[in-house]
Amino acid sequence: MHSLPKEYDFAEIERKWQQKWEELGLYRFDRKDKNRKPFTIDTPPPYPSGEFHMGNVLNWTYFDLVARYKRMQGFNVLFPQGWDCHGLSIEVQVEKQHGLRKREVPPDQFRKWCEELVEKYIALMKEGILRMGCSIDWSTEYRTMDANYWRRTQLSFILLHRKGFMYQGTHPVNWCPRCETAIADAEVDYIEREGTLHYIRFPLENSDDSLIIATTRPEFIPACVAVAVNPADSRFNTCIGQKIALPLFNRLVSIIPDEMVDSSFGTGVVMICTYGDKEDVKTVMRHKLPTLTLLTENGRISEVGGKYAGLSISKAREAILKDLSEAGLLERTEHLRQEVGVCDRCKTHVEILERKQWFMKTRALTDQVVKTADEVVWFPDYMKTRLTDWAQSLDWDWVISRQRVFATPIPVWYCKNCGKLILAKEDWVPIDPKLEQPRASKCPKCGGKEFVGERDVFDTWMDSSITCAVHAGWPDHEDWRRLFPADVHPSGIDIIRTWAYYLMVRHLALFGETPYKACLINGMVLGSDGRKMSKSLKNYVAAPEVLAKYGADATRQWAAGGGATGSDIPFRWPDVEYGRRFLVKLWNVSGFAGRLLADYRPEKTVHGGLEPLDKWVLSKAARLTLSVTDAMEKCQFNVAVEEIRNFTWHTLCDCYVEAVKDRLYRAETYGFEAKLAAQFALYEALYTVLQLLAPVIPHLTEEIYQALYAEEKECPSLQVSPWPEKSAWIDSEAEESGDIIVALISAVRREKAEKKLSLNTQIKRLTVSVEDEMVANALRSGSCDIVGACKVETLEVKVGKAAGKEVANYPNMRFTAEY
Ligand SMILES: [Zn+2]
Ligand SMILES: [Zn+2]
Repeated sequence: MHSLPKEYDFAEIERKWQQKWEELGLYRFDRKDKNRKPFTIDTPPPYPSGEFHMGNVLNWTYFDLVARYKRMQGFNVLFPQGWDCHGLSIEVQVEKQHGLRKREVPPDQFRKWCEELVEKYIALMKEGILRMGCSIDWSTEYRTMDANYWRRTQLSFILLHRKGFMYQGTHPVNWCPRCETAIADAEVDYIEREGTLHYIRFPLENSDDSLIIATTRPEFIPACVAVAVNPADSRFNTCIGQKIALPLFNRLVSIIPDEMVDSSFGTGVVMICTYGDKEDVKTVMRHKLPTLTLLTENGRISEVGGKYAGLSISKAREAILKDLSEAGLLERTEHLRQEVGVCDRCKTHVEILERKQWFMKTRALTDQVVKTADEVVWFPDYMKTRLTDWAQSLDWDWVISRQRVFATPIPVWYCKNCGKLILAKEDWVPIDPKLEQPRASKCPKCGGKEFVGERDVFDTWMDSSITCAVHAGWPDHEDWRRLFPADVHPSGIDIIRTWAYYLMVRHLALFGETPYKACLINGMVLGSDGRKMSKSLKNYVAAPEVLAKYGADATRQWAAGGGATGSDIPFRWPDVEYGRRFLVKLWNVSGFAGRLLADYRPEKTVHGGLEPLDKWVLSKAARLTLSVTDAMEKCQFNVAVEEIRNFTWHTLCDCYVEAVKDRLYRAETYGFEAKLAAQFALYEALYTVLQLLAPVIPHLTEEIYQALYAEEKECPSLQVSPWPEKSAWIDSEAEESGDIIVALISAVRREKAEKKLSLNTQIKRLTVSVEDEMVANALRSGSCDIVGACKVETLEVKVGKAAGKEVANYPNMRFTAEY
């Protein structure tokens, strides 16, 4: 046993153990190990964003808590780490950085820039993850932008295509005119904003009458294919079937009845345009109306817009309003609050465009998603409905093609002669159809020998929605099913509708099975003012700053203990400071133990009898083990952290150590057996604390373990020591007696403090009167620690009418101290 220095440098200790753990290979998953049960964590590969923020600290603390806890439980833990590289976000940043659009440079050059930026960002995030001391198996590291990962995404597409889940279709899709690509429902954010409602006069055919239509999008007049009214609206139902002229364009459209028209909005008469919004899409489908494509892919007005062709959407709106006003057709305008969909990457107003796209038949799986979600364990339970509600709310299938550069290519070609689709074979991938020809010599339909490669690429979620299978080793390891479904998929509340959902539909379609057995959800990190953390609100805190100032062990305590799993948790400096103070407390009590245990040879059982307080602390430690284990099983990390910290600070340090100090220091007075009993209990109780804390505070507990326990325990690291089990030390009677003894000691010490006496002040006679023989016996049995802790020369315990100062929580126990 080695003693601990008085002061410690957390940065040095943390760095040291991070390095040693890596050298020891403690976190390597051993695929060949058939003795330990595997436990697989489906670490969501993050988008490299170039910043490691407090939200990331929260995510990785959760992942790591599960990994470390399961490892101590004897599982062969797979804790992988990948990077989800592709996507609009990186492209948008590269475009900004170089001040150009993707089409202005050769794709190879653009891709290279994207890769460079991603590598830079990965390095920054990785530094943060390492600094936190996450127990990741770095030999598993992968990047979805590598061809080796493309291979998996492409293979999954080929298999799903064969199963009939993939199709091409011309269907309206969400379109970002700035990014010039289709985007999925999950990539549309909804924001509230101030809008203008324009009241425009539409003349009726063969009549001097007209109808007024209120619209926020007058630029869509040229794409109007019908005007609709509610058939129940008596103001307008006589107009149904008549024709009405589009102002400025003089094209006639029909007035149709539609029960979905809200008679109370605007004037009760609406334009149906292709496509002003999602409602238009539904109405056009219901009535089988023709479509007109008003917008081009870069958000300009097409030839459908007549003289306004070529203008941007906002310029066209201005021009049309000006012309309407000059023609006397603009009646009035009013302000309104409106909700609009914007691109979640660039915040541009999302339009709806019809273009040939690839889709996955996800809606066909909705019933299965709902059923499977029921079989998954959710932490916390109420998160399940977030997934099922989302699945059931989807109007459209998942559009999986994107018109971008930095993404996995879709492995198909088209026959130049007859247009037949050529799907890559399983062993052709990875392949880029833009650069390589299919390895088939001719078109199976017409015999043509020339092919055009698909130019569209995959949505980045196509890469990241197969991680459960990929982490398990699919398709390269024959035994991948042993590690599938993942034991837990941990993720943020904000990405349930993407990550948890896409994982579910893709794996259900591919393998007919849930991808994960459990889903662990973390909330968002809020600023100290309770609002969403953001730089503009000045409540933003950068994770590297926190880690540099207080170290990983204190920061992890904030993340684990800051709030209930799944709820949003605020970042507060005092929480991290408290974590730091706790570390100092733990260090000090361990230092004390190290000194007092210097001559102690660990025993399996104690030979002499244990004093009541020894049994008391061991029983409380055993009970703590049970409740912490239960909390960890339920992923209630905050409960676990609070209980261990309370036990350490109060039960172990304030009560037990203070009460037995004298016994440990003065064996000549109390006898060597009494000292040995205290040493035994201190040694065991502190070890329990270190073990239970090991997942949350891995570095400092390891440092203490190595100094005080490693020699005897023979585990290379506390991190792989077996998690404590239910022990024989639970003893309700001992706890009851110990509580009585501790209550008296605290009361006497409190009196000394109130009288401004030093705690070492001798008490000549301490008279305790109780009304109950059981209480008296408890006090008598613990007399050696009472006299030791309170410095009592003569202790007298009387049964009868209680007299003297009251003891908190024990109204029938009173005492008098004579100094
Ligand atoms: Zn965009
Ligand atoms: Zn052909």
